[in-house]
Amino acid sequence: MKRTFKYKVKKINNETEYNCEQVLETCRQLWNIALEQRKIVLKQHKLLSLYDQQYQLKDLRAEFEQFKNVNFQVLNNVLNRLDKSFKKFFSDKKKGLVKKGKGFPHFKKYNDYNSFTLTVNGWKINNDILSITNVGELKLFLYKPIEGKIKTITIEKDKTDTWWVCFSCDEVPEKKKKKRNNFLYVKNKDKKTVGIDVGIKQFCVDNNNNYIENPKYYRKSQAKLSRLNKKLSRAKLYLFSIDRIQFLKNNYKLSSDKFELINSIKDKHINSKEFGSIFKEFSLVQQNIIRKVFNNPSKNYLKIKKMIAIKSLKIKNQREIFINTVANEYVEKFNQISVEDLKITNMVRKGSSNKKGLNKGINDSSWGLFFSKLAEKIKGTDKVLIKVDPKGTTIECSVCGEKVQKKLNERVHKCPRCHIVLDRDLNASNNIDKRGKIVNFNKKNKKIKKSNYIQLNLFSKVDIPPLQSNSW
Ligand SMILES: [Zn+2]
Repeated sequence: MKRTFKYKVKKINNETEYNCEQVLETCRQLWNIALEQRKIVLKQHKLLSLYDQQYQLKDLRAEFEQFKNVNFQVLNNVLNRLDKSFKKFFSDKKKGLVKKGKGFPHFKKYNDYNSFTLTVNGWKINNDILSITNVGELKLFLYKPIEGKIKTITIEKDKTDTWWVCFSCDEVPEKKKKKRNNFLYVKNKDKKTVGIDVGIKQFCVDNNNNYIENPKYYRKSQAKLSRLNKKLSRAKLYLFSIDRIQFLKNNYKLSSDKFELINSIKDKHINSKEFGSIFKEFSLVQQNIIRKVFNNPSKNYLKIKKMIAIKSLKIKNQREIFINTVANEYVEKFNQISVEDLKITNMVRKGSSNKKGLNKGINDSSWGLFFSKLAEKIKGTDKVLIKVDPKGTTIECSVCGEKVQKKLNERVHKCPRCHIVLDRDLNASNNIDKRGKIVNFNKKNKKIKKSNYIQLNLFSKVDIPPLQSNSW
């Protein structure tokens, strides 16, 4: 069994940190060089293979000092990553998942490349000390032992400047999961199967009467993040210093009144909103030049930005823990789980209601992760995850099938035909479960030979008189 063990770096000295950053910078340069090469070749309607590029690595290392100093596997891994992202782009494009102008691998700016990977050699681990050749020693926070055979190690720097080390291991002995007694989120179980409707109001609702809200602490940090973002938009970003104004005067021809305007705010910090109101008379090109020349964030701006990075990371972790738990509980409790087959475009449609709540933003980004966690956890068990056609799950009556149109803010399903009154999301989850059962039934039947179909007599309760030829 494959597993990854991730540890925080407890101690790293300045020299080692500098060396790690140098490796990252070299990787970034290689990424950009290799990407450019691929782009040039692509323009000639050809494709470069991973081998082609790996083959040239030797020459590159012979010629340039900075590449020579970095472990060969690390550089090889950069080319690997680039190749993967190219392959992903083309396969997504084939499936029609690529939005115009998006998804193509892009050049990495300074500090944009944040991890490097080593394979078999160039490192050694002794208790909690990881030593890397030509880099240095990192002391890890080894809160649990590494198991199995280490295949690769990845050193990563996150946006809060914290270092992490991931050990990807193979042949990790499988552990039997303990059955849990108390479920945090999925408490009810009336049936063996479940249909889950991901929602805007709650995280999800299922037809076993589980209404799962986003946890409070999670909403709290989300609210804090949006406050920080507002603060950031007010923080000063542009510094108008005298020498830079002089630079602008010397290099770009500005009319005297426009020059006066810039001169009037010399030695001042302004934020992007103020910038917009002061420079609305300027052309967009001029505005961009000014932005570039004066972009000099205040200490406060940088401080808030760092706080945002820390908060975002916290939210990301909280979200993952929450979704992981919910997915675990569903897989543990039910044999058949049905969800809607939401493609990215559908997801946007589903989330793009008129209601712009806090929950909307949270849930938008969570559905995809939730579904993939469910799939991941169900793999290797005898249970099934079924994705059903999402069309009309909210409209259809789950009892009689009548189509009942609803507005987005109508929370109740009232059927004029069979007079059932149900919560809107509960009705939808009933439909999802129903559709899942049909899909599963059809799937199983495909496996049964055609001659066996006759055994499935659906009308066995009705007395059918035997066919007798003489009765004609
Ligand atoms: Zn009905």
